[in-house]
Amino acid sequence: MVHLVIAGHGKQRNGTFDPGATGYIKKGEHKYVVEDLFPAIKRHLPKGHDVVLFSKYKVSNYGNIAALAKEYKASQITEIHFDAAAAESARGGHVIVHKSFAPDKADLALRDAIKKMVGVRYSHKGHEGISGRDNLYNVNATAKAGITYRLIELGFGSNKRDADILTKQVDQYAKELVKAITGKVSDKQTEQASKPQAKPSTSTSKTYKVVKSIAGYVNAADAKSRKNKKTTVKSNTYHVYKESNGMINVSAKKGSPGSWINPADNKKSTGSASKPKTFKVGQKVKIKSSAKKYSRSTASIPTRYKNKSYTIQQVGSNDVLIKELYSWIRKSDVQ
Ligand SMILES: [Zn+2]
Repeated sequence: MVHLVIAGHGKQRNGTFDPGATGYIKKGEHKYVVEDLFPAIKRHLPKGHDVVLFSKYKVSNYGNIAALAKEYKASQITEIHFDAAAAESARGGHVIVHKSFAPDKADLALRDAIKKMVGVRYSHKGHEGISGRDNLYNVNATAKAGITYRLIELGFGSNKRDADILTKQVDQYAKELVKAITGKVSDKQTEQASKPQAKPSTSTSKTYKVVKSIAGYVNAADAKSRKNKKTTVKSNTYHVYKESNGMINVSAKKGSPGSWINPADNKKSTGSASKPKTFKVGQKVKIKSSAKKYSRSTASIPTRYKNKSYTIQQVGSNDVLIKELYSWIRKSDVQ
């Protein structure tokens, strides 16, 4: 049975185009999902998956969601949106279900994926990150037709932090959504067999040595993207409270949460070796043989990709997007 995944908004019956909400994501919901999120989802869909990505038109405008479910033999539907609000401070995502229903397993798995990436808001029948609605066309039409359906809001395009996560961490977000939808994930970047990710460990007896003053963040996602620096973590040996996504929560007090740090920041500068280089889009670079992991993923860079010439497609603050691999590599790992 098919899991139909619909991009919200889009082409309407009268020929006009509804871009959806915008905010910091200027292209709007529909184009973001079609151009950025769907390609990332495709990269992570596991072999033999039953997911169909749909973006031909705005389904709620065509008013044919029940017929569409039948056409695709869909057993369930997930429709993807992001929010926007006048208040910049509004942030976080949620999963919308019909208000007479409690969330099912897939709703909760998607809620967990959203929570991991941007955090969640609202609650319904005691479940955080779920909203119960009865004033949305597709929500009502599917409830009436007996089709399993939810609408997910990935965060607020009008909030800088959410918008940054949606765009700069789109690959990671897609991966979390695929995991929630299919239960597994394929990492085509590394062509590794899918394997369950280790659960983040809490309050270990591990210690971690910070060798110089580095930025501290409120969550692992911020530490990873080096956004919203909240404090400075001075050089010292700390207790490891938690590890997630390659980031470490270091604390002066064992068993208490401290600050999230990016271990890549924790390097003593070694003179000329750390001199920042400038990179340009279109520039040809090679991945050094000393390179270990991709910069925005925990996966290892296969040896066969190293010492070959590639093109820079995009330049980040600490990394570059390699066009041929569609992967981010640390600037310190290319030459
Ligand atoms: Zn929308």
